[in-house]
Amino acid sequence: MSTSTLHLYLDDPLQDLLPRTYKGKKEITYPLTRRASIKDIIESLRIPHTEVESIFRGDSEISFQHIPQAGEQFVLHGVSSSTDVTQPTFLRPNPLQQAVFMVDINAGKLARLLRMAGIDTWYIRGLTDTELAEQAVINNRVLLSRNRDLLQRKIITWGHLVRAQQPKEQLIEILTLYNLTKAIKAFSRCLECNTLLDPVEKSTILHRLEPLTIKYYKRFHICPDCERIYWRGSHHGRMERLINTILALRKDGNSKME
Ligand SMILES: [Zn+2]
Repeated sequence: MSTSTLHLYLDDPLQDLLPRTYKGKKEITYPLTRRASIKDIIESLRIPHTEVESIFRGDSEISFQHIPQAGEQFVLHGVSSSTDVTQPTFLRPNPLQQAVFMVDINAGKLARLLRMAGIDTWYIRGLTDTELAEQAVINNRVLLSRNRDLLQRKIITWGHLVRAQQPKEQLIEILTLYNLTKAIKAFSRCLECNTLLDPVEKSTILHRLEPLTIKYYKRFHICPDCERIYWRGSHHGRMERLINTILALRKDGNSKME
C-alpha cells in the first residue's frame, strides 16, 4: 500500500507544540489521505494557526487556504518575539491598530497582571467559546488563551496560545512576544474593569480611606467607571519589582545575543 505524503519543516516555537509522537522532530512526513487546506493539516498536529507566522513552499509564501499536493514541502515559521500586530503579513494582511487583548477565563490572573502593567485588556466572565471568539474579533483584540481548540477557530486571526503556566511568566511571555515593555505604564488602569484611572484629590475621598492609608499616602487615583480607589501601596511595589525583572530579562537576552 502506498500513501502520498507531504513534508513539513517546523522551527523551534512550533516544534514545542507538537504532540508527543512528533516531539523534537524538525521534519514531519505527513500522510496525505484527504483533500485538506494547509491550515487544517497544521491544526491536525494540534498547532493552532494563530501560532504560525509564515508558511513557505520553496521561495514563495503561501496562505492558510492552500491545498497541498503529494510530495510538496513546506517550511513553517512560528510567531516569535517582538511580533508587531500593527504590521500586515502575508498570512494576516489586515493588521490591528494596536496591541490590545482579550483574555480567556483560563488565564484570568494574566488579565489582571496585564492591566497592572497598563495594557488594555478585556476579561469577561460567563462567555461561551463562540462568544469569546466573536468579541475578540469584533473588537479587534488579540485573543490570549490556553485552549488550542478555541484558537483553531477560523474566525480568529489574531490570537496566541499562552505557553507559560504561572501568571508572572505568562505576563513576561506576552510583553516579550508583542514587544510591549516600552508600553508599560504601571497602575494607570483599573484592575477590575480596565478603565484608565484619573487622579483624585485626597481630601475628596477621605471618608473612603483607612486611617493608616490616610497617614502614609498622599497621591490617589480613582476609576471613573467603578469608583475603586488606588494608591502606591504594596501592590505597586510588587509590580515595580516584576517590571524590573522583565526589563532585566530583556537586557540579559540582548547581551547573550551579542
Ligand atoms: Zn474600575
